[in-house]
Amino acid sequence: MTNTFRVFATCDIGPALDVLRKRGYQLEVYPEPKAPPKSLLLEKLRSGIDGLITTLRDQIDAEVFEAGKGTLKVVAQYAVGFDNINRGDANRYRIPFTNTADVLTEATAEFAFFILGALARRLWPAEHLTRENHWGFWHPYLPFLGDEVTGKTIAIIGTGRIGLAMIKKCAGFDMNILCYDPAYQNHEFIQGIQETMDLRHARGIQRESTSIRYVSFEEALREADFVSIHVPLIREAESTTPTFHLFNERTLRMMKPTAFLVNTSRGPVIDQAALARALEQNWIAGAALDVYEKEPLPADSPLRDAGIEDRCRLLPHFASAGKITRLSPDPAKGMAGRCVQGLIDVLEGNFGGDVKKMPYVVNKEAF
Ligand code: NAD
Repeated sequence: MTNTFRVFATCDIGPALDVLRKRGYQLEVYPEPKAPPKSLLLEKLRSGIDGLITTLRDQIDAEVFEAGKGTLKVVAQYAVGFDNINRGDANRYRIPFTNTADVLTEATAEFAFFILGALARRLWPAEHLTRENHWGFWHPYLPFLGDEVTGKTIAIIGTGRIGLAMIKKCAGFDMNILCYDPAYQNHEFIQGIQETMDLRHARGIQRESTSIRYVSFEEALREADFVSIHVPLIREAESTTPTFHLFNERTLRMMKPTAFLVNTSRGPVIDQAALARALEQNWIAGAALDVYEKEPLPADSPLRDAGIEDRCRLLPHFASAGKITRLSPDPAKGMAGRCVQGLIDVLEGNFGGDVKKMPYVVNKEAF
């Protein structure tokens, strides 16, 4: 098949781009690892681009849609989160945008669980001890102990795709689970998990019985030993239940002083200055973070303070960074494959050209 579509990718998303090349697309890929400056993006759009491949580093707003007016037909975002795309502006210009939901769900959830475990069992200070040759003896409790995960209670904030996948991981570790989500409650899934827990207990696979239920936000924070965040970034003007600074001084103080916070969602969901104080003043026991209010994390961030280093794990927005998840050209497995397929669906008019029927288009309401 030969197409004459022109596509600009703001980032190299790997071999999946060959799918476009083989179909005859005129593809230009920004060659630097950093995001292109906005001026370059606008210049490319004004030159007549049909499709734009973006990452969360690109700000896609009215200026971008105006520059692409008349030619731009689709923005294909290489991420499930799309808080960098102004949905209202996309709708005003009637430009569909796609995302890569589902294919990164399990990878992100397992990563959230791994950093939770690394934080609780103190893997970072323990490895430092070994590497720096401070491991002088085996001792029942010196120089420190960690907190077990098995049998503890976790609060899952946001029970969408990744929240539910995290629930599966936690249930496998015999955890009690408190769920909070004001907009979407999957009671059938929760009931299935409870039945699995009961069966495991009845057959002696797990020693203690465990439970899962939906609770209020406050109950989730007050009761949990671990709190894991799985919400999209929603700013105040966008919803009656925004997630911007959902975790702030008031809500962090609701958590137990022995509790741990895990965030693999979006940085601005936590008021980072309040979190640094929470760690320094021991309102909570620790935090494992993959995302930040400003990325990359600035050199002078108080989260880097040596005094809290043992209780604060800092990862570089890495939760979906598995090889298959990031790069597979298969739209059922990889973000790259799904991103490319979303773009093709719109440009080649799949699904009878009906944007509403295209599975990867997000802003169906505009059509
Ligand atoms: P999803 O839309 O399936 O689930 C999000 C859930 O959050 C929904 O059920 C929604 O009702 C709920 N929610 C909305 N407002 C809430 C509030 N105020 N309080 C509690 N819950 C609320 O999305 P998903 O696929 O599970 O992804 C979630 C987010 O994770 C993405 O939007 C993205 O920002 C982030 N993410 C990060 C990485 C990473 O690399 N760190 C990877 C993938 C996704």
